Amino acid sequence: MVVLGIESSCDETAAALVTAERRILADTIFAQVAEHTPYGGVVPEIAARAHLDHLDATIAAAMHQAGLGFAELDAVAVTGGPGLIGGVIVGVMMGKAIALAHVKPLIAVNHLEGHALTARLTDDVAFPYLLLLVSGGHCQLLVVEGVGRYRRLGATIDDAAGEAFDKAAKLMGLGFPGGPAIAAAAERATEPWPDLPRPMKGRPDCNFSFSGLKTALRQRVEALRAADAFDDAVRANLAAGFQQAVVECLIDRTSRALDRARADHPTLNALVIAGGVAANRHLRAALQRLADGAGIALIAPPARLCTDNAAMIAWAGIERLALGESSGFDFAPRPRWPLDEQAPRLPGAGV
Ligand code: ATP
Ligand code: MG
Ligand code: FE
Repeated sequence: MVVLGIESSCDETAAALVTAERRILADTIFAQVAEHTPYGGVVPEIAARAHLDHLDATIAAAMHQAGLGFAELDAVAVTGGPGLIGGVIVGVMMGKAIALAHVKPLIAVNHLEGHALTARLTDDVAFPYLLLLVSGGHCQLLVVEGVGRYRRLGATIDDAAGEAFDKAAKLMGLGFPGGPAIAAAAERATEPWPDLPRPMKGRPDCNFSFSGLKTALRQRVEALRAADAFDDAVRANLAAGFQQAVVECLIDRTSRALDRARADHPTLNALVIAGGVAANRHLRAALQRLADGAGIALIAPPARLCTDNAAMIAWAGIERLALGESSGFDFAPRPRWPLDEQAPRLPGAGV
């Protein structure tokens, strides 16, 4: 079985072909970095138009790479939300058009479910597992009990972790996207800036907060600039200190969630990470230490499959198809679509 996946919910225009045997035949991504860089962040209107400009060529490139024609597909899986609605509409219309024209089943995939199930594409992991989902738009801890069965243990009460990286980079003049820019600057640090706060650390719940950390960083940067002491060396140290603070917060909250998840699920199989921030090397190393100490496996998919991609959408489609599910052609793109609100059946689901 081979499924075409389409992703267009944020600033990556992506198409992929994946088989039920977990082979990625093609995985094509057009990242709209040049389009959004002048604005220091993703501009929804520009993103939607860029998806419109590039999606057909991206899909054609994936089909060519796999050496397949549309007639040979078994289904079309497309991100149905949540995300920037203009881009989601472009992808859903394209997915519907291909599925209709070639009489294939359509699966409208929750983008977050794509991230949540990626570990099952890259590794042999059975349910239940604990998922730390950290991206530009999302920051949450979930127990993945099965396909369509997600129990949220905690989430951010303000910014997502990736959003915090992006905003911090912007206020330090480090460019876009902020995560990789801060990680690179941190490599040049001589001494990580020490006195940044660790919001929520030690709290009994599993929630996150990053706005206080961002404000503290802004105050340091403003004071340093006023004193004419904000040079490249200081900036590198601040970047390293900021990265360290975010990682420490994520580890503290994940450790708390691990205890909770294990209390409810003594057979918890793994700690899994997903989302763009999961590409961060320091976070990965710290999570590995946490998992080793807790005697649980850490599953960290390759960075390319942690950031937005279409292989995860195709795979989530395969998992849904395996349960006999597909979507109706009346599926309406969803700007908001919480993972833990999702019923086991897809909205507008046919058989
Ligand atoms: P969504 O939240 O809807 O999934 P998104 O486009 O923000 O959308 P991703 O593409 O998964 O999500 O992740 C992008 C985010 O990951 C950005 O905020 C980026 O700064 C962050 N990021 C990428 N690489 C790193 C890194 N090495 N360290 C820290 N953050 C990173
Ligand atoms: Mg993205
Ligand atoms: Fe994403």
